[in-house]
Amino acid sequence: SPQPHTLKGSDKICICVRKRPIGRKEIAKKDHDSITCCNPEVAVHSAKLKVDGITKYIEHNMFRFDHSFAEEETTEELYRCTTWPLVEFCLQGKGGRATCFAYGQTGSGKTYTMNGIQGMVAEDIFRVLEENEERGEGVCMSSNTVVTVSFFELYGGRCQDLLNDRHRLKILEDGKGEVVITGLEEYQASDPSDFLTLVDAGNRNRTTHATEANDTSSRSHAICQILLRSSTSGRLRGKLSLVDLAGSERGSDTKSHNRQRRTESSEINKSLLALKECIRALDSNGSAGKAHVPYRASKLTLVLKDCFTSALAKTTMIATVSPSSSSCDHTLNTLRYADRVK
Ligand code: ADP
Ligand code: MG
Repeated sequence: SPQPHTLKGSDKICICVRKRPIGRKEIAKKDHDSITCCNPEVAVHSAKLKVDGITKYIEHNMFRFDHSFAEEETTEELYRCTTWPLVEFCLQGKGGRATCFAYGQTGSGKTYTMNGIQGMVAEDIFRVLEENEERGEGVCMSSNTVVTVSFFELYGGRCQDLLNDRHRLKILEDGKGEVVITGLEEYQASDPSDFLTLVDAGNRNRTTHATEANDTSSRSHAICQILLRSSTSGRLRGKLSLVDLAGSERGSDTKSHNRQRRTESSEINKSLLALKECIRALDSNGSAGKAHVPYRASKLTLVLKDCFTSALAKTTMIATVSPSSSSCDHTLNTLRYADRVK
């Protein structure tokens, strides 16, 4: 059974950084490791020296987050600290909206991290539902709670269903201010294996092509939503959104000669900027009353409206970084973004 953990930092927001190990190809290119994670800090440096047993960084930038995960830490460790509290929050059955974002440059480990998290979420949800059932305690029990999964992607201006043949979906805001994705399929899962069959199908349906330049998975936001509903009334008891964001490195593409690329890139920039503003507003909503949440500024923030505006919302952002010295500029951009979200 997992250790009880509480989210560090603000109760509503947890921002952390994960560094992936340096790859063989990077070492072959004579890239060196330019990142050191010393929880909760992250140092970006051009060189690292040991003087009299003390580590010194040359030309370094230092950042501090709620948590930083070094390359040897497993996805399991990261999950326990960052995502399990979100799962637990949803399982309280009070209608909580929890969101976990993976943000970072293409190749920094967003999908690797998210895929690992999906597997652990699957195990934990059904285990807790079963435990509650046996103890006869808790709002959400296996006999009265239905778990469903929906999975969609925002690519360019489009919203498409990853569990229904990339069917094109419409995002609407109804009269009551609720955002509805019309046509989005919601599939029931009755155990971890059911759940993972759905999630794996969605992951496979993300558009990917052979060459990196055409890799559209790095140009789309993939949003996997797990809903806990009352089996009698259908009422929402909790909602967990796992979001694998588009690569954050798109800045230079805005000058590209390819018109489609340019449009995609400016769409991504716009949505990542809007996301930053919405997460910041989420935090100030708690203490200083209702801040303005600019969720209409992008499709990404629009579909996640309730996650930003609900009184019961918790958000985790995992900023993933590559250790490689040739990625230093992108890494600095990622860390600055994550720093400003706080
Ligand atoms: P992104 O989704 O950000 O583009 P990926 O998740 O596809 O990046 O990761 C890029 C490569 O690095 C993949 O080959 C992946 O297996 C590897 N990788 C990423 N994070 C880790 C990690 N923490 N440990 C080991 N390998 C990793
Ligand atoms: Mg990816």
